[in-house]
This record gives sequence, structure tokens and C-alpha cells, in this order.
Amino acid sequence: MTHRVDDCIFCKIAAGELGTEFLVETPNVVAFNDISPQAPTHALVIPKRHIDSIRDLGEDDAALVGEMVQVANQVAKDRGVDESGYRLVTNSGKDSGQEVFHIHFHVLGGKKLGPIC
Ligand code: 5GP
Ligand code: ZN
Repeated sequence: MTHRVDDCIFCKIAAGELGTEFLVETPNVVAFNDISPQAPTHALVIPKRHIDSIRDLGEDDAALVGEMVQVANQVAKDRGVDESGYRLVTNSGKDSGQEVFHIHFHVLGGKKLGPIC
């Protein structure tokens, strides 16, 4: 991890400080279950390095985003929702309802999902 923000809950989770079970871990990314699941499968995929949101991604982060998508796909496969279908969601900023300002992809599946917004 190259950057950790002291009061960021997801930095703490990524560093293993809260004992969170990782569904998948790769060199730069971890996935874990959402604490308040909105679907039978509801995982979060985050980089170990702190980035506030997709808005803050730079040109050099393309590989990291690819790694996050690969991890999301692995979670979907492990949960058996890769065939039935799943949704990848990320919020950025106030209007989106972003609550945790450490970039994360929600992986949602295991039921028929509603409209996108
Ligand atoms: P956002 O609204 O920022 O896109 O989503 C934040 C998500 O993080 C929410 O779905 C919320 O339930 C989840 N969350 C917040 N705090 C924690 C936590 O401490 N542990 C886990 N596993 N999920 C959390
Ligand atoms: Zn963070």
C-alpha cells in the first residue's frame, strides 16, 4: 500500500486492521462483504491504496481499475452469480450518495435487481 488515510475505514479494512474476511485478495485489491447487504451477493471491491473516488483516478490507474474489475468478476464467479447476472456500481460524490470516500465497486447479484436509479 502506498497511501493510507488514518481516519478511512476502508484503508483500515484493506490493511487487515479490522479482521475483515477477504473474499478475494490480489496484490493491489481486496474484496469483502458489505456490512449492510442490499442483495444476496453484495461485496465491495477496493484498492489497497487510498483513492477518494473514480473522479480521482489518474492515467496511471488503468491497470488498477482492470485489477478491480477482474476481482469483481472473481467474486461473482465464486458466489455463483456469474451466469445469473450481477451489477457493478460505483458512486462518486454527493449526488451519487457516496458515503465512504475510498473508491469501491459494489458487486450486486443473487436476485432480480431493480432499475439502476
Ligand atoms: P457508498 O454509498 O459509499 O457507495 O457505499 C458504502 C458502502 O460501504 C455501503 O454499502 C455500506 O454498507 C458499506 N460499509 C460502510 N462501512 C462499512 C464497514 O465498516 N464494513 C463493511 N464491510 N462495509 C461498510
Ligand atoms: Zn482509504
